[in-house]
Amino acid sequence: RRHRLRELVREPSTSRDGVPVVLLGNLELPEDVEAVRASGASGVGLYRTEFLYMNRSGLPDEEEHLATYLEIVRGLDGIPLTIRTLDLGMDKQVDGLTGGAASLTNPALGLRAIRLCLREPALFLPQLRAILRASAHGPVRLMLPMISSIAEVETVLGMIAETRRTLRRQGLPFDPLMPVGAMIEVPAAALCAGGIAKRVDFLSIGTNDLIQYTLAIDRVDDTVNYLYEPLHPAVLRLIRITLTRAAESRTRVSMCGEMAGDPRYTSILLGLGLREMSMQPSSLLEVKEVVRHCDVGRVSQRMDQLLDRLDDLSPAQLLEAVHEVEN
Ligand code: PEP
Ligand code: MG
Repeated sequence: RRHRLRELVREPSTSRDGVPVVLLGNLELPEDVEAVRASGASGVGLYRTEFLYMNRSGLPDEEEHLATYLEIVRGLDGIPLTIRTLDLGMDKQVDGLTGGAASLTNPALGLRAIRLCLREPALFLPQLRAILRASAHGPVRLMLPMISSIAEVETVLGMIAETRRTLRRQGLPFDPLMPVGAMIEVPAAALCAGGIAKRVDFLSIGTNDLIQYTLAIDRVDDTVNYLYEPLHPAVLRLIRITLTRAAESRTRVSMCGEMAGDPRYTSILLGLGLREMSMQPSSLLEVKEVVRHCDVGRVSQRMDQLLDRLDDLSPAQLLEAVHEVEN
């Protein structure tokens, strides 16, 4: 089976009825670049930069950020790298930095990710500058985690514009067209996806958090993870809303949570309208196999019908109803 999958590396990621689907890899450490390349991914849809900050004393400075990003850009050899800005404060804590946050009882709802970055410019600005500077050396995109409102997007876009002006003044090169995107991982962001999409270059649905926040299930609490259900109707509706609203401004939408790398869900996601998925490289060929087998036209028609009946279908029934049309 593995052998047969390996042969898919060079095959196009196109559905049976000719719909192209972009498959990207997730990255956490520079060492993972090799796995991304070997999977045949057409880029990195999520580079989690938290690891730059962990297991060390002190913060990385701009030059250290830049050196790390450039190592990855070079390793990727021309395929795009989506760098997500720092997402600390929930499960990933850094000594001293998140201050009181670590002691709060509800860190997932607290000073996390973009909230922490906006509160601590000394933490955020070196990273913003380094990402922009890295964009002079290869295709780089910047992605913002845990966005929960349009105002927040506008604040960050203002900071990025200001950072560009400063770099220009300092004569430091960057790509003026570097795409900036927002993660959709809070239900409020999914429900406001149209307004967010108009202001950014792309969206990426982070299902790990979107499911956590939609279903009110702590991702790191084992006693409630039996409730964690990617096919919950509320989750599927939020994904659908995000795709529909973003399409109105022709904004690209990717998905980079675990759901995107689970081949059981691939047909459903294609049926909902998703055309870009980012995942652990080890899942990519299995997902590609499903994509190549899928008739996206028929699965989309079936999903359109099923969306009205979601409340009356169990996850197993939904899977069966979608897979039925493929065989
Ligand atoms: C997500 O929430 O789905 C996501 C991709 O981000 P992380 O898992 O790093 O929170
Ligand atoms: Mg997340």
